[in-house]
Amino acid sequence: MATPRWLADEMVGRLARYLRFTGCDTAYARGRTDEEIVVWAREEDRVVLTRDRALARRAVRSLLLNSPSVREQWLAVARAFPGIPYEVAFTRCTLCNGPLVPWRPTEAQARAAPLPAGVLSAGRPTFRCAACAHVYWDGSHTAGIRRRLTEWSRELSP
Ligand SMILES: [Zn+2]
Repeated sequence: MATPRWLADEMVGRLARYLRFTGCDTAYARGRTDEEIVVWAREEDRVVLTRDRALARRAVRSLLLNSPSVREQWLAVARAFPGIPYEVAFTRCTLCNGPLVPWRPTEAQARAAPLPAGVLSAGRPTFRCAACAHVYWDGSHTAGIRRRLTEWSRELSP
């Protein structure tokens, strides 16, 4: 099954970030009315991820999430849509959903916004969002995300 495009409502923002970490196209509906979310999802053929029963009923495609826990929410999505990715992909910005591109700072850029010590000298891959210019690298934060996703995915197999 191909991974759907998602539209996460305001109450599941952390889940949206995890889905983006794995490269899933995940729009985030901050400050939108239910009507706007329903129309947006229909026009872009997105599955609405929400904790709001009424919104889930109105959307053409939706998944109602019962738990406030991001782990439970991710597992609910993975059970309803088997085969969604769980590897950290560095293809999508977790802040804005824009595409990430491989990127190395110029010397001036490195001086203006230094990366943590060792990131560049260790030759770790670095990426930048083509939309909002946020910079990403494979560091300890990513390791934590990767570890959690691996743990959660193990719970899916019997
Ligand atoms: Zn971005």
